[in-house]
Amino acid sequence: MSHRITLIPGDGIGPEVVEATRRAIEATGTDVTWDRRQMGAGAFSRTGRALPADTVASIRENRVALKGPIETPVTSGLGSVNVTLRQELDLFANVRPCRLYPGVPSLYDDVDLTVIRENTEDMYTGFEFEMGSVAVKELMRFVQDTTGRRVRQDSGISIKMISREGSARIVRFAFDEARRLGRSKVTAAHKANIMKFSDGLFLEVAREVAATYPDVSFEDRIIDALCMQLVQAPERFDVLVLPNLYGDIASELAAGLIGGVGVAPGAHVGGVDGRELAVFEATHGTAPDLAGTNTANPIGVMLSGAMLLRHVGEVDAGNRLEAAVAEVLADGAHVPRDLRTIDDDRPPAGTFQVADAVIARL
Ligand code: ATP
Repeated sequence: MSHRITLIPGDGIGPEVVEATRRAIEATGTDVTWDRRQMGAGAFSRTGRALPADTVASIRENRVALKGPIETPVTSGLGSVNVTLRQELDLFANVRPCRLYPGVPSLYDDVDLTVIRENTEDMYTGFEFEMGSVAVKELMRFVQDTTGRRVRQDSGISIKMISREGSARIVRFAFDEARRLGRSKVTAAHKANIMKFSDGLFLEVAREVAATYPDVSFEDRIIDALCMQLVQAPERFDVLVLPNLYGDIASELAAGLIGGVGVAPGAHVGGVDGRELAVFEATHGTAPDLAGTNTANPIGVMLSGAMLLRHVGEVDAGNRLEAAVAEVLADGAHVPRDLRTIDDDRPPAGTFQVADAVIARL
């Protein structure tokens, strides 16, 4: 079967790591037609738009995209191109599998967890009020009228918003993902003891949803305790589900357990049935310092490519790509610069050498 997939090289090291992944996907023998589109700073300088409408339309139509990291140009008028894309396409779930592969330097022996981050609510709704603005003054008045307490005059305000529906769908997604992956436990993280009406609602809904999945066990953790326990004993965790901001931090923490963002894959998934649109991408940024130097680690995006293949039904090809990546990592003959330890005297392998080594094992 032929697959039509939107391909967004992105900015900085994006074009290099996405090209490595595109070649690897093709080398699995999967029949793909790439629908190449632009987004980010490069798109802005070429077209005047950082998030061109045809790119968004292409993802809607093809339902699957492979995307590099994106820089948001300051003058583009968008707070963040990535956040805008996720909100426009309602990509409400960020899936970040964090598996430690043999050969990758880490403080740990056994890490294999999946972080599911809610992507559209919490502190990322964009309800931002600048210090000194008319709006912030009105908000302060409202807070004083309703609570009897004064907000410091020199404050800026960001609104945290968590809904029942948004919480229910991300927790359901996490349980469905746990079932699909054959995982046995979902852990929800929150700060419900302090933010009773936002995180408290998330926790209440998480418990309700958990009760409808009797085959998967459920527990909750206060976010600070979770961070400590993740560092102490990551093997205790299986699938984590978190509101947006905690999810952002915890997924980066988890990436640090398995070798860093250079090897951490990810997907943004959404749509009406929770499966309709999926953007597979780098979890790292554009790393402009490394752009064009053939030093970026392509493994994270290649593993996102393996996720993409499984998502479109090419399970065998996805598993083979992941296995080839794991072999290269275990073999140790092609070590990207960011995976070398301080006393490592092996020469670093460039982006394309790593990609070639993976492709040779397919
Ligand atoms: P952004 O603001 O675009 O999200 P960031 O500042 O959060 O980016 P990253 O680009 O994710 O940060 O990573 C920080 C540093 O990690 C980079 O400057 C780079 O040195 C390193 N890094 C990130 N991705 C890779 C990669 N794929 N290969 C090698 N090093 C990387």
